[in-house]
Amino acid sequence: MSDKKCTSCNAPLAEEGATEFGCPACGAEICRCYRCREQSISYTCPKCGFGGP
Ligand SMILES: [Zn+2]
Ligand SMILES: [Zn+2]
Repeated sequence: MSDKKCTSCNAPLAEEGATEFGCPACGAEICRCYRCREQSISYTCPKCGFGGP
């Protein structure tokens, strides 16, 4: 019953290989799906706007 979504592409994180981590700048939760991780799609923190690979 997780409704987490990929921070980069907004896909639901149901697939294996998804990763979660805290924003290095503000600690907000960042989630990325397997696809975005594999393609090295950059993320942008929804809270502070910090972006990274
Ligand atoms: Zn994604
Ligand atoms: Zn942040």
